[in-house]
Amino acid sequence: MIIFDNHLHLRRNGRFLDAVKEFKKFGGTHFILCQLPMINLVFRDKSYKACYQETLAMADEIRSNIDIGVFVTVGPYPVDYLRLVEKFGRESAILIMKKGIDEAVKFCEEKKCIGIGEIGRPHFKVDEQTVDDSNEILFYGMQRARDVNVPVIIHSESTTPDQCMELAELGKKAGLPAHKIVKHFSPPLILKEENHGLMPSVLASKKNIIAAIKKGTRFLMETDYIDDPRRPGAVLGPKTVPKRTFELIENGLLSDKQAFEIHKKNPEITYNISLNK
Ligand SMILES: [Zn+2]
Repeated sequence: MIIFDNHLHLRRNGRFLDAVKEFKKFGGTHFILCQLPMINLVFRDKSYKACYQETLAMADEIRSNIDIGVFVTVGPYPVDYLRLVEKFGRESAILIMKKGIDEAVKFCEEKKCIGIGEIGRPHFKVDEQTVDDSNEILFYGMQRARDVNVPVIIHSESTTPDQCMELAELGKKAGLPAHKIVKHFSPPLILKEENHGLMPSVLASKKNIIAAIKKGTRFLMETDYIDDPRRPGAVLGPKTVPKRTFELIENGLLSDKQAFEIHKKNPEITYNISLNK
């Protein structure tokens, strides 16, 4: 059975390969390695290329050590904006992050990455200028994602139906269909009237997933594991998605067919990939 974690970070000074082995041990088969913020590299180069390359190198290392499906998404992390403004000023910050979008697009064109993200807005309260600039960068990201037919993975404030509507409309303006907008760190907003067509990536807590499957199967599952030795198991540990899925199947709360839709069909449609064991 395919078991897909849609959002997981790793770091070389974290558990790295051990975390992947744990995911696999519990039945995980495929995951998205989402680029970890690496602001010092961006400061050094005024470019995201080096941190994207580092993420791709980590994926290669995983592939050569473990029999597991790993896909990569990269993008200028929204909170970087604040750090870049501090260091280089507002205009340079916007330029560096837009260039970061172009650099991500290039890796998507080369089929080394399958999406642009996480991009969006800081997840905490920020001033209006930051929101406006972040939206400008996000809009650019959506336009470029449309050009190369990949999804964007959105990092933003807590997800609400109104916010999903706003993001879907921004996508429409950019020519990017709502199903190519993945809402990372989503609560179980599964219904069309809740997510306005966005693809929700639901944090795989027991409560969330039970609430989600009561409404349907149009969602992805994620741990948002951050592989931080200071916060072990945060946000959720690497075994969570397979563990949760098999637990629900055993308890009769999830059928094989539903699991197939969540773990195979939805990621395949969203990212234009094919998942096979
Ligand atoms: Zn993340």
